[in-house]
Amino acid sequence: MSTVLSVPQENKVAREHRVAGWLTSEEFALLEMICDTFLPTLEPPDGSDEEIVAYYRRNAADLHIAQLIAEKLAEEGPEVQADLHRFLSLFTAAPISLLFAGSAKPFVELTQEQRERYLLALANSPIGVFRQGYQGLKRLAGLFYFSALNEQGVNPNWSVQEYTAPEPPPAVARPITPLEITEETTLEADVVVIGSGAGGGVVAGELATAGKRVVVLEKGGYNYEGNFSHHEMQAMPEMFLKRGALATTDLGVIMMAGSTLGGGTVVNWMTSFRTPNDVLEEWDEQSGLRGCFTSSQLQESFAAVEQRISVNTKHSQHNRQNQLLFDGVSALGYHGGVIPRNAIGCEQRCGTCTFGCRHGCSQSTMKTYLQDAYEHGARIVVRCSAEKVLIEGGRAVGVEACAYDTQTGKTHRVTVRANVVVVAAGALQTPLLLQRSGVENAHIGRHLHMHPTAISVGDYAEKVYAWRGVLQSAYSDQFRHLDGNYGYKLEVAPTHPGLFGLATPWYGAQTYREEMANVAHLASVLVLTRDKDEGRVTMNRAGEPVIQYVVSAYDRKHVLHGLHQGTRIHFAAGARRVISLQNRPTELKRGANETVAEVQIRAFDRLIAQRGLGPNRIVMFSAHQMGTCRMGKNPQTSVVNEYQQVHDVRGLFVCDSSVFPTACGVNPMLSVMGLAHRASQYIKSVV
Ligand SMILES: Cc1cc2nc3c(=O)[nH]c(=O)nc-3n(C[C@H](O)[C@H](O)[C@H](O)COP(=O)(O)OP(=O)(O)OC[C@H]3O[C@@H](n4cnc5c(N)ncnc54)[C@H](O)[C@@H]3O)c2cc1C
Repeated sequence: MSTVLSVPQENKVAREHRVAGWLTSEEFALLEMICDTFLPTLEPPDGSDEEIVAYYRRNAADLHIAQLIAEKLAEEGPEVQADLHRFLSLFTAAPISLLFAGSAKPFVELTQEQRERYLLALANSPIGVFRQGYQGLKRLAGLFYFSALNEQGVNPNWSVQEYTAPEPPPAVARPITPLEITEETTLEADVVVIGSGAGGGVVAGELATAGKRVVVLEKGGYNYEGNFSHHEMQAMPEMFLKRGALATTDLGVIMMAGSTLGGGTVVNWMTSFRTPNDVLEEWDEQSGLRGCFTSSQLQESFAAVEQRISVNTKHSQHNRQNQLLFDGVSALGYHGGVIPRNAIGCEQRCGTCTFGCRHGCSQSTMKTYLQDAYEHGARIVVRCSAEKVLIEGGRAVGVEACAYDTQTGKTHRVTVRANVVVVAAGALQTPLLLQRSGVENAHIGRHLHMHPTAISVGDYAEKVYAWRGVLQSAYSDQFRHLDGNYGYKLEVAPTHPGLFGLATPWYGAQTYREEMANVAHLASVLVLTRDKDEGRVTMNRAGEPVIQYVVSAYDRKHVLHGLHQGTRIHFAAGARRVISLQNRPTELKRGANETVAEVQIRAFDRLIAQRGLGPNRIVMFSAHQMGTCRMGKNPQTSVVNEYQQVHDVRGLFVCDSSVFPTACGVNPMLSVMGLAHRASQYIKSVV
């Protein structure tokens, strides 16, 4: 008996002695050395001023980067931690040192030069898990080094990058008072809505204004004008799903999804496109729901949503980055357009909207539909995670959820009894919730689509400041139909220093630091690819989504085409250099006579192709996930019907991007909202 008891105690003691509760001191020392190899003390260029000297001398340890990584990964599940334990154990193996660095000494005893060689060998290894482990650490080190805050609330590297620290938020009263949950609670409603993003927000607003008793359960917190910090380091964990550390299982695609009251609509870039007609026709065909997507009713719903969220082009003034895209495509004779946005009164004064708009310009669901819902009596519960839908006799009758009380740190059970349950938790969480609720359908979680996004980076002689001004206002549809309805859109990405640090490839400590000192000059061209092939979401033991998705060979062809075009667009817009975010140096400079010959561009096209687009050979992103509970006529091949009601479960609806039959091919917010608006009219009639 005593032996049995002593084991957990020993474990507890061992855990307490571990750094951040999970790393041994040897592992932590190794992690520190890896971080200091990425970001060591360097010699500044001759004649540098004081700030630049400090920038080059500052190393990872000065900003406690290893500690921040250890703490970040302490929030992850045991699977991720086990992966890192395994990865770190590599660094003590003599044969690997010999192979990668030419010395059998352990990593910590190698010189900086040998350690750099070692890390680069991992980065470019043919073994996928080596590249994955490398990327996991390199990205976090870069992200934290350029976004972590010191005692003064700034990152000391920002002055060299000309990045201005955000001001504290203004004192503004909270426009919504969420319902406080301080004990186990049962609520009654006509409709309970799970998730308050693009889909859930619309349904809540529509039903509450129609006089229905609505309860909204939102997993994220309530962030608004008066508490948006505008710091990457604070906003990402507070307002994004999985505290901002979302990616496919192999880290091949870095993903982003909002998780705050208003969901993705609070952090998104406000680009507001209707689903294109050719995609709607394809959806009619694919789903077997003839006329469902091409009906005038859906267009009326788009129009109603556009009016409520004020979609317009009057507030789409190009910042420098958008202007460069527009100029580049125009110079090449390509299509170029101005993006309609759900913003009012936006005067290019900031650029931090992706961490919440303090001026109330972004017409997110929080500012529009949820505010309507609240003013019509809806009860909104934040930091409340729905665990399962209650289903009795083939009918949804409510939800069981868990609310976190920030005052006491306690969680309380919340049960909502309702006639209708609307699940709008987003394409990554909705399928997990349906599975936890016992809904049986083989297609739940399958058919995960996204818009795999690669970035062509242009370096300009002028300052671009990719973090200032309107986020997205220019686009090109020149290559949307490379193969039928498949191809890509071209847009830009607002980028702050942490994201630059994460995405900028590391070819060695010196070049990385030089590149990062130059970020004010960089502009992006985003290749937003409509994927044809698909992945899957499943659930791990902690109930978190496991995203199995690899960009297919077919889809990579379009990504590659887009990167090739990115080069041409940047040079047409005047770039002095173009970079592709691959693990080996992949850049083309304008020649001494200021020209770039077509033959050089073609050679660069080949270089990008040779470097490869496989997982962790290039940085790829996606903030658009869709299709995991797709709509269709046949319950054998789809999850919800034309009213977005789950086949065979009366009163249970799905109103988010999971219902798309395939990828929508444009930024998805308006597609989600239009469909949710139309479904709301049906729900009003049955509740
Ligand atoms: C950085 C970024 C930029 C983007 N830019 C654009 C853009 O410019 N234009 C555009 O069209 N699209 C953009 N998007 C995508 C767009 O925001 C999403 O496609 C859209 O918000 C998806 O809507 P949704 O209703 O499916 O889910 P979401 O809006 O993601 O909302 C889901 C909500 O459900 C909550 N939730 C999850 N699980 C639970 C649970 N168990 N219980 C309770 N609540 C739960 C989440 O916290 C979240 O708030 C962007 C996305 C991001 C992340």
